[in-house]
Amino acid sequence: MKIKYRFTFSWEASKGEQLRALGLTVEEPQVPEEFSGIGVSHADEGAAGWAEACSLVKLWRGGIDVSTEFTKEEIVAADYCIIRGAHYSGYPQPESDDGYRKITYGSACYCPDCGVGLEQVAPFRMRKSVRFGRNAFLYLYWVHDQIFMPHGTWEKRLAPLGVGALPVNDVKGQPMEGVIQLKVEQHSLLQLDAEGEVCGTCGRKNFLVHDRGYAPHPVDPPACPIFRSSQHFGAGAQAFNRMVVRSDVAAEIVASGLKGARLIPCFPRSV
Ligand SMILES: [Zn+2]
Repeated sequence: MKIKYRFTFSWEASKGEQLRALGLTVEEPQVPEEFSGIGVSHADEGAAGWAEACSLVKLWRGGIDVSTEFTKEEIVAADYCIIRGAHYSGYPQPESDDGYRKITYGSACYCPDCGVGLEQVAPFRMRKSVRFGRNAFLYLYWVHDQIFMPHGTWEKRLAPLGVGALPVNDVKGQPMEGVIQLKVEQHSLLQLDAEGEVCGTCGRKNFLVHDRGYAPHPVDPPACPIFRSSQHFGAGAQAFNRMVVRSDVAAEIVASGLKGARLIPCFPRSV
């Protein structure tokens, strides 16, 4: 496991020199402008210069994004992994005026202030122009907790493990051949230490996603290959569930080299 830091800061040549002196590589702004360029630098947690770079970037009021890279061995050793989107293409349809939300979800429990409470009642609609490229997984922008796959890849790789599928429609509401949505019906609480933010309107909670280290472990995992977190995550009016896959699904994704999603091992249960 490597914990990676990505630093961003308003560009000045002297800042770049300070980071380079610490041994970091620095990406200068593509189009340097006197006041508006953004510099980018990277460091692994614990590496030479990392702690000093963190202090400098905080001093400069820059941004620090933390993410974690796991080895294939760490992924396949985990009982469960969170699966999250790496390949996004297109928007759910119709994309204007929240049209997709009204068509795809029931909104009886929906809260417009925190985004919690959407329940899918109809197939997603997408444009035929969405592109998988070399990816086996596709996510639609705005929708972080629904996973789409080419029918053939799902049938060959995940259906034998018991992962179900739902149909997908085109923009006119007609069945779209060759693409499926993974069927995910069950939930589990994740073991979270954070308090979450309580919505002032509906009283339900949203949690922030942290990308540092292992993902939280499911507390009461159902006996199925893929399920959702009971908790919601997100900020503002956006809420989504985290998606969890069992070890045999993660192993198949790794062994078959399926691209388009990231796997984040959950903490070992004993930790
Ligand atoms: Zn709410």
